[in-house]
Amino acid sequence: MARSRPRLLALVALLLAAVGTAAYLYSQSWFSDDEVIEPAPCTVCGKTVRFKTRKGRRYAECSSCGAYERHRLMLHYISHREGLLDPGTSVLHFAPNAGIERYLRAREGLVYQTADLYTQADLELDLTAIAQPDASWDVVICYHVLEHVDDDRKAMSELFRILRPGGVAILQVPLEIGRNETDEDPSVTDPAERRRRFGQEDHVRFYGAADFEARLTAAGFEVEALDYIAQLGPEVVERHHLSREPTGDPAPDERIFVVTKPR
Ligand SMILES: [Zn+2]
Repeated sequence: MARSRPRLLALVALLLAAVGTAAYLYSQSWFSDDEVIEPAPCTVCGKTVRFKTRKGRRYAECSSCGAYERHRLMLHYISHREGLLDPGTSVLHFAPNAGIERYLRAREGLVYQTADLYTQADLELDLTAIAQPDASWDVVICYHVLEHVDDDRKAMSELFRILRPGGVAILQVPLEIGRNETDEDPSVTDPAERRRRFGQEDHVRFYGAADFEARLTAAGFEVEALDYIAQLGPEVVERHHLSREPTGDPAPDERIFVVTKPR
């Protein structure tokens, strides 16, 4: 009896430690429902799904359609902006996300075409020499593309040219809050250096917000740098997980650039 008491004490201590560890992990929400289990509605595919963590960002990717936060935010915007996708409107979509493409193809009365230079699309188009007539499209969607294009000023002026007066382009590029200068250096070709400075090995620059806006203005556009996250407010943003979770990286700027060709 006397000999087993230390063992019993050790067992109790072990048990307490295990319970304590589990409680700690739960409090850190490693196992909590809201992180791993609770499904939420995806604005792109319309399904209520579990979102996957990507690069440390919780709720980053829809497990059904693969849409990321920025795709879900963009779809919320284009589907709620009055008049943007009315029947009869022509929409040219560069390098489309598959879920958004499905949504737009299913949208009644839309004249919708996809475009890409490298992968299968309706049209094979080079953004810096778009083989389309002047003033031929009502809406262009170009999301996370311009940061890959060497001559982005030419691309912006081509987008301007193919839009009808009053036409709108919906644009987004990676940005950081508080950073205004663009970091751009065509001599940087080393993949590791590009990842470090521009965020990805096939990016050719990291835009500053003010400079991105200035380049669009120089191309002739009226620019609205829309903070749609703030406009929607936390309730809607959290319900659909439309905002990137901070990961310790510099805070992302999720503005949507709505640029209009003046009439
Ligand atoms: Zn989805």
